[in-house]
Amino acid sequence: MTVRSIKELIESWPAERIIEAFDAVTEERVLVAIGNEQRDVYDLVALLSPKAWPHLERIAMRSQAGTRRYFGRTIGQYAPIYLSNLCAADCIYCGFAAQSGNTERRKTLSMDELEVECKALTSQGLQSLLIVTGEAPKKVDVHRIAEAVRVARRHFPSVSVEIYALDDAGYEVLVEAGVEGVTLYMETYHRPTYQQVHLLGEKTVYDYRLDALTRAGRAGVRRLNLGALLGLYDWRAEVVWAALHAKALQKTCWQSAVSLSFPRLRHTPERFEIPSPVDDRSFVQLMLALRLFLPEVGFNLSTREPPALRDRLIPLGITMMSAGSSTRPGGYASTGEETLQQFALEDTRSPAEVAQAVRRAGYEPVWKDFDEAFHSS
Ligand code: SF4
Repeated sequence: MTVRSIKELIESWPAERIIEAFDAVTEERVLVAIGNEQRDVYDLVALLSPKAWPHLERIAMRSQAGTRRYFGRTIGQYAPIYLSNLCAADCIYCGFAAQSGNTERRKTLSMDELEVECKALTSQGLQSLLIVTGEAPKKVDVHRIAEAVRVARRHFPSVSVEIYALDDAGYEVLVEAGVEGVTLYMETYHRPTYQQVHLLGEKTVYDYRLDALTRAGRAGVRRLNLGALLGLYDWRAEVVWAALHAKALQKTCWQSAVSLSFPRLRHTPERFEIPSPVDDRSFVQLMLALRLFLPEVGFNLSTREPPALRDRLIPLGITMMSAGSSTRPGGYASTGEETLQQFALEDTRSPAEVAQAVRRAGYEPVWKDFDEAFHSS
């Protein structure tokens, strides 16, 4: 499947077609979707519909069984390091945005500071790292990010990045430096909304972003993680589009593992009110529906969500959780500087505490040398 056909696939399901499909769902159709072994987009729509509400328990049981079949009873753990909070883009929902009005300090970590942050995380047992930056390609270019990846690889067996969209050559530079995964959220697949909320920078180019994970996969990135920023537009439509994107990536980049995240807008800068908030029931429903539609895709859950909800979701389809996170540069081993953070977190538990919650749910937290780190803490 070509890149163009991913775009075509998304465009073949405009919002009006999705609304029509939802309007046609009956409770009988929901039961068919639950019972099917292979599911198509209409099954996904049925599972996402309000008509599925009386059957969420059954859907949850299928989700749990399916997740255990593909992933066992394990939950991977990771944490982000914010390499830089510099950003020339202006995404109106984000604390790092150039015109967010935030005045706290902007900073890019030196490689020595990064090393200190890495040690702070590995001392807590973490072995998977996500390096995050804003969009400041002039000040934090791909070579600087690659240098950071090299430093991080001295401490972490697995290093992924969540950065601005790159071209093929850029992703090749990162693969060469040892990057295993790329996380890149489309934010919203709804083009008019996309243009309304992205005001400056390269990120304003919808098609370039839609195409980015395909370029990453082509460059040899082994893990591709995508998602929509829930709250920007109607969540049911966003979930259908994200699911189509994931399916398309599985075909295009068959050598890479595809995973999904569910970033839900909760805290935003003053100038932005969340237009389509997603409540907890809908959040759980969308995850369960996606699990039935994409049984072999990993699901990541971040510390944006509160502890009680995260714990409840452990047995229902999650495969990776972030833990002990900070969303500011220098947030783990800070020298006392209050740098600007991207967003506030709901789950502030340490990795060891999250691991305990995972065990309590009957699952095994996965990180190398976890037992040693946990028992010595
Ligand atoms: S979402 Fe990313 S690109 Fe947009 S303002 Fe925030 S850090 Fe910058």
